[in-house]
Amino acid sequence: MDWEPKTRLGKLVYEGKITSMSQALRSNLPLREPEIVDVLLPDLKEEVIDVRMVQRMTDSGRRTKFSVMVAVGNEDGFVGIGKAKAKEVGAAIRKAIEVAKLNIIEINRGCGSWECGCGRPHSIPFKVTGKCGSVRVTLKPAPKGVGLAVGDVAKIILRLAGVKDVWGFTQGHTKTTVNYAMATYDALKQTTIVRVNPRLIMPIYKGGVKLYAVIRVRGRTGVRRDIRDTLTMLNLTRVNHCVIVPDTPSYRGMLQKVKDYVTWGEINPDTLAKLIRYKGRLYGDEPITDEYVKEKLGFDNVEELAKAIVDGKVLYKDIPNVKPVFRLHPPLKGWEKTKRHFTEGGALGYRGEKINELIERMFGPGVK
Ligand SMILES: [Zn+2]
Repeated sequence: MDWEPKTRLGKLVYEGKITSMSQALRSNLPLREPEIVDVLLPDLKEEVIDVRMVQRMTDSGRRTKFSVMVAVGNEDGFVGIGKAKAKEVGAAIRKAIEVAKLNIIEINRGCGSWECGCGRPHSIPFKVTGKCGSVRVTLKPAPKGVGLAVGDVAKIILRLAGVKDVWGFTQGHTKTTVNYAMATYDALKQTTIVRVNPRLIMPIYKGGVKLYAVIRVRGRTGVRRDIRDTLTMLNLTRVNHCVIVPDTPSYRGMLQKVKDYVTWGEINPDTLAKLIRYKGRLYGDEPITDEYVKEKLGFDNVEELAKAIVDGKVLYKDIPNVKPVFRLHPPLKGWEKTKRHFTEGGALGYRGEKINELIERMFGPGVK
């Protein structure tokens, strides 16, 4: 591309030192050149949301301009919105697209829905609300297949952002297209900001509920359908996969149902910290670093986050963009008998605190 970068970020992108949009946004350097977005998100799509004619009386008579609002997005997590004015519609659209590129954000997606539990990022991770003028837009995670249950303007922005299923609620004058669009964008922006705050004061589960790590021990052959469905709901579709669940009545019921296929026990903060550090992944297969935890959740490091999770103050699945599953290696020295229960010298079922040493044997080569 014929482009001479003028800003620090532009130069880093031009020289190939920053190679992804996520990296560019995380650098916290100001994004002032639309070309940066052109290079990093070549598949960006754009859509005009609003065009209106604005007239103004001046000394020399009536002057007409066009005011345009445009949204851009790659339909995979990045979205921006922009407004511009010009004498011609075409010029106004081009200007608005540039502005929208400079306003690009990376949203966080997730399954976010208990009814769905698929663990794929087709919706938003939690409920968010955005405001602009009198308009207030609330978006809630929805299970797969719901589609975009929102007005047309919000639909455009959500589609460009790559959100496929969501419930929407609005208040105020949603007929003011521009405000409706801004409020939707603002709501999506909230997915990037953490909302641990009220939860830091009160544990999510009352009465100091325990946290279990659950690991799948046995494979897929001959699994009864209802058991398979429960394993899927738990996100345990493969052997050696591990998830973290609270000891609530509904999870206890699920564990009872799949007890011949999994093992579980109370995970301690140390093991959880290692698990997150070594085997925790974000969508896009990025690791969960101290830096990420600090930026997105305000914890100093992974250890502090792990402690908050064990204390029931944060849900692991609420970490922005996090994959709910840990993919572990087969245990060093192998599994105990995989068709027997732990109490009978086997691998299955509840094993209490012993889950921690098992997890440590499952980090795989290269991890101490
Ligand atoms: Zn889902």
